[in-house]
Amino acid sequence: LPEGIKQMMEAHELLKKFYHHLLLNTKEGQEALEYLLGRGFTEETIKKFQIGYSLDSWDFVYKFLTKRGFSSKRLEEAGLIIMRERDGTYFDRFRNRIMFPILDHQGNTIAFSGRALGEDEPKYMNSPETAIFNKSKILYNFHSSRPQIRKKEQVVLFEGFADCISAVAAGIDHSVATMGTSLTPQHIDLIKRNTSNVLICYDSDSAGITAADRASTMLQEAGLSIKVALMPDNLDPDDYIKKYGATSFVTDVIGASLTATGFRLQFLRRGKNLTNEGDRIQYIEAALREISRLGNAVERDYYLRQLSSEFTLSLDALEQQQRQIFYAEK
Ligand code: ATP
Ligand code: MN
Ligand code: MN
Ligand code: MN
Repeated sequence: LPEGIKQMMEAHELLKKFYHHLLLNTKEGQEALEYLLGRGFTEETIKKFQIGYSLDSWDFVYKFLTKRGFSSKRLEEAGLIIMRERDGTYFDRFRNRIMFPILDHQGNTIAFSGRALGEDEPKYMNSPETAIFNKSKILYNFHSSRPQIRKKEQVVLFEGFADCISAVAAGIDHSVATMGTSLTPQHIDLIKRNTSNVLICYDSDSAGITAADRASTMLQEAGLSIKVALMPDNLDPDDYIKKYGATSFVTDVIGASLTATGFRLQFLRRGKNLTNEGDRIQYIEAALREISRLGNAVERDYYLRQLSSEFTLSLDALEQQQRQIFYAEK
């Protein structure tokens, strides 16, 4: 590796260890630690993910790392400090935040995401794109979950840090997260090199469900087999685990995940009032269109029977209509 790259990684490594120490062992880190424990993160989990705390200071990182021989130019390149336009002096990017280190797929620490302690905005602040950090290529927790992903022949995909971490603590140790960005073709390539089965477990709010629909389409187009797990009441996976416990998450959410078609049918129902005749007919049409895309006759039959029983329609009529749609769209 080029010297500059090595230095940037070393700076991150040193800082990660110090942030972690500040969180666990100092008075300054106490409020942050209490926040995390209050959210249900255990000390074991905090250690496993090397979570830390950045001091409420404008120049702690600058002093800590320049004292250890890193040039300010290098630290700026690494995204750890920012130059003030007016006088060329520097200030720390991350201040008074819970720090999640981000590792590359070889295990080097290459970036951070910092979460505000309370309701401060922005809630999460990420390292910028640098020579060592490209958000569209990195999946959070991939380095440590890769062996489990290969062993279980599946990856579980989350939106957020907290979701991924709580899922691992709940025993779903083949988990990764996209860190808020949408899934990219590079993420998909990476997944594809390791497994062909993806379980999407995004937030069950409107944004999350729309993102899950988009991700499932992209993953399927890439030839991967997908499932989608949904939670009630707009919850996200971390909220769900805190509210209903790890066991329920494993059985009632992960264990009850839907097939791609099952999910699409759920998705098509959103915002519709199925007791209303117009909405009901619209939904049935859309569902038939979805079913007509299935290449497998047994699967088509399965979903047609579901529709038939849910809306007390004759299976014959549904089949006929589905075939019509199939030929019309061909
Ligand atoms: P928490 O549980 O800590 O409140 P969350 O993970 O539920 O956070 P969401 O709002 O659901 O937060 O966002 C999902 C993910 O999107 C976050 O984990 C983070 O990676 C990313 N994200 C959210 N807000 C921002 C932001 N302002 N800037 C950058 N990334 C963000
Ligand atoms: Mn969300
Ligand atoms: Mn969320
Ligand atoms: Mn959350």
